[in-house]
Amino acid sequence: MSFMNPCLKFTVACALVASGLSGAERRAGWRMERGENRELFAIPRTWNHDFDGPTGPYRWGIVSATCEQGKSQSPIDIVPSQTVGSASAAPIVLNYPKTGLVVENTGHVIEVPYETSAFAMIEGTPYDLLQFHFHTRSEHALNGALYDLEVHFVHRAASGQLAVLGYWVKGCNQLDTTCKPNLVLDEIFANAPETKGEKDTHKELNPFEFLPVRRTGTGGVLENYYSYEGSLTTPPCSEGVRWFMSKDVITVANESLKKFRSIIGNFPTYKNFQFNYRTSQPLNSREVRSFGSN
Ligand SMILES: [Zn+2]
Repeated sequence: MSFMNPCLKFTVACALVASGLSGAERRAGWRMERGENRELFAIPRTWNHDFDGPTGPYRWGIVSATCEQGKSQSPIDIVPSQTVGSASAAPIVLNYPKTGLVVENTGHVIEVPYETSAFAMIEGTPYDLLQFHFHTRSEHALNGALYDLEVHFVHRAASGQLAVLGYWVKGCNQLDTTCKPNLVLDEIFANAPETKGEKDTHKELNPFEFLPVRRTGTGGVLENYYSYEGSLTTPPCSEGVRWFMSKDVITVANESLKKFRSIIGNFPTYKNFQFNYRTSQPLNSREVRSFGSN
């Protein structure tokens, strides 16, 4: 996931947090560019997802030590045969009213901020929905395999605890009769701004038109999922994030996927690298729990 608590809107402070550097470090980076402080030359001013690049996922430890040293990092490879089954159901009730669709290009993800009051009820605690965004390929693997895309719905409880509900998305050929049209995702990617910091406002959005959850009137219920304790999947890779990955998968047309990847390739510093996912991190001593049917 990509979420910089508590930056709901783009501000200078948020940009600093998003770079993973303090104000002093960024100023040092600025001096470095002018050759005034060679010692600081190694401090990257930005990070990206290019695996071969100097500021890519395998080097995020330079940006935030937690990315390298954390023991509860996300994403992970979910292996169903090694998960712990739950005897009782634990449905997550989703209350996401319709809202005006705003699509934002953050320079690392395409994000839809959620300004209407919306929440997920998890084990009796309400978690407010802050935004949702997309990664391609998927971040979580299933039995070692990646899907084409992953959506992250980022929530926060009054205590500050973060919970992310993730959904795998599979690309499909529109000519294939099993390819279900996904008008909401088509609309989001067709209208996603091509430049960092830009925001486009469009027609009304109803997330239940594309989420693979059981509908209940105006709401929905996530019943089939895996859960574990993890982290943000982008710097600063902070831990203590509750993860819930839906077992039911969304489909999207390959054309929309292609459009999304071309936008990523145009993110600052991505230089046509058309992916924004982090690879699986060690599970260590964590347990992955399985709820609902498979
Ligand atoms: Zn994310």
